Amino acid sequence: MALFDDLVLRTLPYVPRPIMWRVAKRYVAGERLEDAIAALVSLRERQHPGIIDVLGEDVSGEAQSRAVVEEYKQAAEAVVAARVDAYVSVKPTHLGLRTSESLCLALYRELAAFCAARKLFLRVEMEDHTTTDATLRVFEALRPDFANVGIVLQSRLKRTPEDIQRLAPGPLDVRMVKGIYLEPAQIAHTEPEPIRAAYVECVRALWQRGASVSLATHDERMAAQCFALLPEFGARKPRYELQVLMGVMEHLWARWKNAGHTVRVYVPFGPQWQPYSLRRLRKNPQMLRHVMRAALGLSRLG
Ligand SMILES: Cc1cc2nc3c(=O)[nH]c(=O)nc-3n(C[C@H](O)[C@H](O)[C@H](O)COP(=O)(O)OP(=O)(O)OC[C@H]3O[C@@H](n4cnc5c(N)ncnc54)[C@H](O)[C@@H]3O)c2cc1C
Repeated sequence: MALFDDLVLRTLPYVPRPIMWRVAKRYVAGERLEDAIAALVSLRERQHPGIIDVLGEDVSGEAQSRAVVEEYKQAAEAVVAARVDAYVSVKPTHLGLRTSESLCLALYRELAAFCAARKLFLRVEMEDHTTTDATLRVFEALRPDFANVGIVLQSRLKRTPEDIQRLAPGPLDVRMVKGIYLEPAQIAHTEPEPIRAAYVECVRALWQRGASVSLATHDERMAAQCFALLPEFGARKPRYELQVLMGVMEHLWARWKNAGHTVRVYVPFGPQWQPYSLRRLRKNPQMLRHVMRAALGLSRLG
């Protein structure tokens, strides 16, 4: 990354919230549940199923973690009431993973049962490498009791091919991502090509073990490399869909949809949009420069 972009990134947390919001809003449905449901309804009109995410992470304390579960239950109820095809996606540290793994597991259990009763799927998301072991333990503990729960795996991490082999046999649903967290070179690929190559190999290994895979990416070339694996499986057709982030590469969604793929859109909402939006902006240097110019009063954001 260029020196200027790096500098901009470091100063971003100090940019006034109203200025940040003007760019963050392309990645986030809004602050209220109604905003997320409106976005999902509008996506349904364009034949895109969705994923609903209550923004937030690194919650500590039982009361706060329980409050997050209640927010997720309301979101699940609203999805059912609106009759949209969507599922819920939850970060482990939003359910207090960093402070109590056992409470986090208990809360995932409660939410998984709530979702199962409404025929909804629940995704356990993956955060930075300090949480990977605990997240996989939580997921493995949920699997025997809940067929409606899936996990996320990151091709950036060198450990992931082994994690795929270590996961217990049985039905498996994985969202495969490159990984948004910048990780140390000892444990992670840091260059784009090895991350891509590892992604395609992980997808192959997952399909070999019969897993259903969500290809969560906006990398058209890499997705094509995954599609090129399909003939290897002959009549054992692998199960997959594409997943994309709200506000990112919309022209690609249409292209994939028109080619006959299911393209599911991730719709995050809630007042805690800053950390999520900062991670997204890091991927969009042009937008970063706009934010900085606006923060310095040198230009206006649209
Ligand atoms: C549905 C979904 C769920 C995810 N869940 C997780 C998770 O649980 N854990 C995790 O670590 N990561 C998650 N991610 C993020 C993922 O790890 C990647 O960081 C992200 O998808 C960008 O990588 P890419 O595969 O799209 O490839 P890239 O090479 O980063 O991008 C491909 C193309 O998309 C463009 N692009 C990508 N992001 C942006 C952006 N923000 N703004 C503008 N253009 C952009 C790039 O410029 C490039 O042209 C998720 C991604 C998706 C789509």
